[in-house]
Amino acid sequence: MFEKVLVANRGEIAVRIIRACKELNIRTVAVYSEADINSMHVQLADEAICIGKAPSSESYLRIDRLISAAEIADVDAIHPGYGFLSENAHFADVCENCNIRFIGPSSRAMNALENKAISRTLAKKAGVPIPPGSDGLIENEQEALTTAKRIGYPVMIKAIAGGGGRGMRAAHNDISLIKGYHTARTEAEKAFGNSGVYIEKFIENPHHIEFQILADTRGNIIHLGERDCSIQRRNQKIVEETPSPLLDNKFRDLRKKMGKAAINIAKMAHYTNAGTVEFIVDDHGNFYFLEVNKRIQVEHPITEEVTGIDLVKQQILIAMGEPLRISQGDVTFKGHAIECRVNAEDPFDDFRPCPGRIDMYYSPGGRGVRVDSHAYAGYTIPSHYDSLISKLITYGKDRRDAMDKMSRALGEYMITGIKTTVPFEQAILQDPNFRRGVYSTNFIEQLLGGARRELIEEKA
Ligand code: ADP
Ligand code: ADP
Ligand code: MG
Repeated sequence: MFEKVLVANRGEIAVRIIRACKELNIRTVAVYSEADINSMHVQLADEAICIGKAPSSESYLRIDRLISAAEIADVDAIHPGYGFLSENAHFADVCENCNIRFIGPSSRAMNALENKAISRTLAKKAGVPIPPGSDGLIENEQEALTTAKRIGYPVMIKAIAGGGGRGMRAAHNDISLIKGYHTARTEAEKAFGNSGVYIEKFIENPHHIEFQILADTRGNIIHLGERDCSIQRRNQKIVEETPSPLLDNKFRDLRKKMGKAAINIAKMAHYTNAGTVEFIVDDHGNFYFLEVNKRIQVEHPITEEVTGIDLVKQQILIAMGEPLRISQGDVTFKGHAIECRVNAEDPFDDFRPCPGRIDMYYSPGGRGVRVDSHAYAGYTIPSHYDSLISKLITYGKDRRDAMDKMSRALGEYMITGIKTTVPFEQAILQDPNFRRGVYSTNFIEQLLGGARRELIEEKA
């Protein structure tokens, strides 16, 4: 058993990991930047070490400082959370070389899925459909034009290192292609330090459906069902639910096929630990592989609610070398769960980030309500990191019950001093198409009254 774990992250996910460790009787070490001294994860951990200045490049992304902290605190393992260094194979390697267990996939698995272009090739080898597109990197305008001509417009230009919905542009003709090619590259260079892009067919009216995977170090791989994450704004998820209404109602035979495809990809990559295989599904029931998220995901709690399996504890047990004690047949799904990401953003001002001090804070409770958050009254949200301040999760006996609980809980949430996305999520929960479970990734753009295509191209 690990005795001590260092949490190389901040915010709600650091709190979530500390909670799992405490329940497993593992001591915890928080690391924090100067901007996070009053952060909840620092309060909750058994020890806390400051690792640098506010910008993440000077703190949460500094491998040398994280390793020094881990050595000073004498920990057995590091949990990287999501974002930051969680998918960095070099960091995983450095940890292992320093005799510190990395709570995540092996560096071998990470390398096999290093970026989106490599992952596409691997999925293809595993016999899983991928959107038509380039075989690898697009090196110049001419290659972009030839590829778009071959697969036909609309196309998507995507950063191989992309994440969080950044570094991608849709294009509907040669002009927007060339423009999008350069903007995607610039954005990717800035956000990920890697300007590599590839092109794939833009799937119209898609649904984002992903499968949660657990794989131990002995070769056992299971999936824990799907999450429908089609409610997105600018390719970033806002509301997620499981089971997927699309797979429940329209394409009932897809769940099994996609689950199998997800496992085939994980097998091909010699995957270990928790991961997510993301797909898009079109209106005709075709599914296409998108990417593998090689880490715990933001929306993992909804899977926990319907399966009763604690994913973070599973990650820790797997990293300790424990075999999975659950077989595919043991995984059962009960009820329905929904998550709303509460961001410190102003939904009435184009979702402008709204860092600042929270004056009053009252979080909802009652039966079927879970809040994963690091927020509290008097907490000042720093401007340096992402704007997620809370995840509100409801669980009900069926979809309607989970939605009713979500509407009720959103109505109870009181956060003053800053603007949040809560009113926007209330509107989503009241939308007749959402209530019916009929929506695609175009939903938000339609709700906001603009064509998604125009918005994306305008940005390009
Ligand atoms: P999820 O797939 O779990 O919903 P998101 O795409 O919302 O994850 O990303 C979660 C967090 O991780 C966000 O803060 C996002 O900016 C960050 N992130 C995701 N992918 C990357 C990446 N490739 N590089 C840097 N940060 C990333
Ligand atoms: P990220 O690393 O930012 O999560 P993904 O490749 O997972 O990037 O894509 C994020 C979202 O962008 C998807 O959920 C989907 O809504 C949209 N998207 C990505 N690729 C395509 C595509 N080829 N066609 C249509 N939509 C896409
Ligand atoms: Mg993704």
